[in-house]
Amino acid sequence: MPLQLHSLTDRELEVELARCRAEYDTVKARGLALDITRGKPAPEQLDLSAAMLVLPGDGDYVIDGIDCRNYGELAGLPSLRALFGEVLEIAPKSLIAGGTSSLETMYDVLSFAWIHGTGGTGAPWSAAPVKFLCPVPGYDRHFAITESFGIELVPVPLLSDGPDINAIRNLVASDPQIKGIWCVPVYSNPSGVTYSEQVTRDLLGMETAAPDFRIFWDNAYAVHALAGDAPESFDILGTATHVGNPDRPFVFASTSKMTIAGGGVSFFAGSDANIAWYLNHLSRKRVGQDKVNQLRHVRFFRDADGVRAHMRKHQRILAPKFELVTSTLRRELGNSGIASWTEPTGGYFVNLEVLPGTATRVVGLAKDVGIALTPAGSAFPSGNDPRDSHIRLAPSLPSEQELRLAIDGLCICIRLAATELVHNDRHAGVHRSPASV
Ligand code: PLP
Repeated sequence: MPLQLHSLTDRELEVELARCRAEYDTVKARGLALDITRGKPAPEQLDLSAAMLVLPGDGDYVIDGIDCRNYGELAGLPSLRALFGEVLEIAPKSLIAGGTSSLETMYDVLSFAWIHGTGGTGAPWSAAPVKFLCPVPGYDRHFAITESFGIELVPVPLLSDGPDINAIRNLVASDPQIKGIWCVPVYSNPSGVTYSEQVTRDLLGMETAAPDFRIFWDNAYAVHALAGDAPESFDILGTATHVGNPDRPFVFASTSKMTIAGGGVSFFAGSDANIAWYLNHLSRKRVGQDKVNQLRHVRFFRDADGVRAHMRKHQRILAPKFELVTSTLRRELGNSGIASWTEPTGGYFVNLEVLPGTATRVVGLAKDVGIALTPAGSAFPSGNDPRDSHIRLAPSLPSEQELRLAIDGLCICIRLAATELVHNDRHAGVHRSPASV
């Protein structure tokens, strides 16, 4: 039964601290070895695509009049572009089916802009200091890409309907060094937030001091609903054209969390000019795509409905795990005032907020009892969460039994860290607001 720590007397607080320590020691004695660090699909999810790995099987490697075993088709197989164009609401001509990792495509696109500029008369981005907006909490690997180029990362709050558009407008209107923003528009990593149409329109239409400002629109979780159907895909390219900034979005997606993680097919989409620009630079890197892998995907999914049916199978495996996490948190920490969390309707993560100043301690306590969590702060640029309160939970990989043990143990770590903090504050005469989660 959750206790309100701040309302305890000194004596009650001592008792609660001793109780938390004893519970923690009990968890430690179990010798756990559990990992909820990264959003990896579980083996049962990967098994859903086992039948794909034996395709084409019949020795027929020809599709769209193309022998998939030979060089060529840098833009990918037309059939696959059409299939995923329907899923993502993008015209096939504007969608390229690429290699096995969308993150690699993002790295490439940034490299092309860095070395050559984004086309037209724009200078290479490397010619002057560059800044990128990073909605927080966000995806650590996005931030790491830009950081590795020496780009300054500027955090902006991610609200319940998308990044804080008023803050963004002010920043981009006056600073020509801000060249881009990272966005995960549907079931965002890690908050689960889906951008509203209004925020999306505002991002596409806002005035920017940099004429070559780009939105890195990573639609990694477009069809990854945990309940019901995913939202209808938004016509991002059509809207960008409509508001007069057709070249602003660089769109990315992949089948990593549909078929084989890191071994599926990635996608890049953009305006006609962006597609020509991308293919021009890509043509210096490779002759064609892995079309045998793309063929497998076409034959396996068959059509857009095939993708949706496949994603319902993932949903049936994932949804109970998310329910287990959120119901345990509710039972153990609901109304305690020391933690809050998201109850996502899609994506791969639960976003957990613990008492400010305790996230690093919680992760350390969990590590010492054999529960590996993503490092505290990893959802912030350079790993710096100024409140030290955010922890990303990734429930997909472990079995339900392992997950139950991990979340039960985690709740004990959260309670112990919070009780230690309140206890130490009490002794040091520090007064914090009880509602500071
Ligand atoms: N984008 C986001 C938002 C992700 O969460 C992930 C993986 O967790 C990726 C991209 C990685 O995609 P890929 O495997 O296509 O490189």
